[in-house]
Amino acid sequence: MSTIRLLPSHLVDQIAAGEVVERPASALKELVENSLDAEATKIIINLDDGGLGGISVVDNGFGMNKDALLLAVKRHATSKLPDANLSQVKSYGFRGEALPSIASVSDFEISSKAHMMEHGWQIRIEHGSISSPIPVAIATGTTVTVRGIFEKIPARRKFLKTQRTEAGKCLEVVRQLAMTKPKVSFKLNETGKNLINLPARTDDYSGIRERLSDVMGSGFAKEALMLDANKDTTSLTGLIGLPTMNRPTTQHMSIFVNQRSVRDKQLVGVVRAAYGDTLPRGRYPVAVLFISVALEDVDVNVHPAKSEVRFSDPRVIRSLIVGAIQSALRGNSALATSEGGTNLFNRLSLRTPSTKTASIHSTYYPKKNVIDTGDALETQNSTFKDVSTEDMFNGVSPRARTNDENDYSKIEGQKDFLESRLGAARAQYHKNYIISETHEGIIIVDQHAAHERLVMEKMKSELSSKTIKTQMLLLPEIITLLPHHLEAVIHHFETLRQLGLIIEAFGNDSVIVRETPALLGEVDAQKLVNDIAEELVGLSNSTSLEDKISYVLATIACHSSIRSGRILSVAEMNQLLREMEITPNSGQCNHGRPTYISLSLSDIERLFGRR
Ligand code: ADP
Ligand code: MG
Repeated sequence: MSTIRLLPSHLVDQIAAGEVVERPASALKELVENSLDAEATKIIINLDDGGLGGISVVDNGFGMNKDALLLAVKRHATSKLPDANLSQVKSYGFRGEALPSIASVSDFEISSKAHMMEHGWQIRIEHGSISSPIPVAIATGTTVTVRGIFEKIPARRKFLKTQRTEAGKCLEVVRQLAMTKPKVSFKLNETGKNLINLPARTDDYSGIRERLSDVMGSGFAKEALMLDANKDTTSLTGLIGLPTMNRPTTQHMSIFVNQRSVRDKQLVGVVRAAYGDTLPRGRYPVAVLFISVALEDVDVNVHPAKSEVRFSDPRVIRSLIVGAIQSALRGNSALATSEGGTNLFNRLSLRTPSTKTASIHSTYYPKKNVIDTGDALETQNSTFKDVSTEDMFNGVSPRARTNDENDYSKIEGQKDFLESRLGAARAQYHKNYIISETHEGIIIVDQHAAHERLVMEKMKSELSSKTIKTQMLLLPEIITLLPHHLEAVIHHFETLRQLGLIIEAFGNDSVIVRETPALLGEVDAQKLVNDIAEELVGLSNSTSLEDKISYVLATIACHSSIRSGRILSVAEMNQLLREMEITPNSGQCNHGRPTYISLSLSDIERLFGRR
């Protein structure tokens, strides 16, 4: 039998490091958190090879004296729990593990000078052996340099990814921390190249917005909706993107609990759920949420890297999030992100046909306007179709074109709607796209998408007042379905009935449709039922009935008779625009795509090289 003995301390540190330091980015997180805990206002980070080669963090925090420095690199030594109470953690750190853990898997050097001290002290740790402190001349603050993480532990080194991936993770760490600390300036250089440069901001509302704009992009910060809600000692603030600014992953959602960035699947799910049917399935919003709870109501000690927390009452948090997001969206749901306009702009500037203009756009247009749309390059390669004047007017509603000496208000005796948010309808192209004019520019509306949403919202309100009107089919339609589709439809007869679709079983492989929702007008019942069946089969068992209803409703609304391909008069177009302005959620169709995009006059001028 082998003897039991205590592990040597350098092994204990390495084992702990496995939990705390997974990769360069996790070491960096610990180091920057230490700088923030030390009240630094300026933090400079240098990475070599995405952190694989080395990391250094320089801060101007309160620093340490010689004794503190010697203790700092010892296990379980912390200055952050003065009353030794784990339920009162105000700082990022509290475990006293990070420095010894990092030092145990790297070549480590720390220099620090406390305020009022004549000079600082430096310690090196190599292979777990601590050098005695030597004096160094540095400014007040602390500098930590880490080289060759995991170099001596090939098994762990193997799991690290490429320099680019690791650098990306480091950037993300700094972006997250920077969001909660607007007053601190951050600079990050990677192998000599500056990648992050965030000036200090104020920590009031406008400063936070500026910082989020620096970190998330001004497009987001400008149009994002503000959250501000509280209940008892819990509060929620933050910015959330419009539904049409949606993304395929949860990566663009940042949630902070008492300033700590947390990755909590449940909270992410709650935020997603609050957006409801304004987002397409499988898409996620862009959002930054700051949750603040009383220290005793949250346990931060449930995860070694402190990226998860546990609430004493998660329900309060959930209802606060859902309530705040829904009320913000309700007030602004008819808006669509201007990302659509920006994307359009990017494409148009890429499509600019002749070589002459191509050189103009490379000199005149700032580069960022021609990158970043994922499929922009694809568009670039597609052949530009030269449009003759004649072609251009094909598909335009003839009535819309009757232009009475530039006085649009004379057309069909229409009031001019330039002042309205979606502007005055001017023309319709390809039987589906309404072009309207506002004081600031032009708006292009996808009439089909918009109409779908209007029908959906009407049906929702009819549904909630239980007044869904149906129309009886003169000839009930018999529809044969695939066995699994048939089963799903039969299973949901009652739900469908509530939505105005009266269906019964017919024989053993068919259903018979007797009534359809009146709002849809004349429908292709066969196609409608097939689409619904497919939708129902695609929904998982765990989807709530409420969600099922809204997905099915979206599918039904899709079948409304005024789909693309209908020529509208100017009056009808304006009516559609006015309805969109007052209909909730009308900024996006039932699949979460924008219903309109806007191009500002200045964008248009830039397209023509006038600016
Ligand atoms: P923790 O942050 O959990 O206390 P660490 O191992 O990260 O544990 O740090 C140990 C101690 O070293 C901290 O409690 C703090 O007193 C000191 N320390 C670490 N980094 C800094 C820094 N950048 N500035 C000032 N003090 C620091
Ligand atoms: Mg720490």
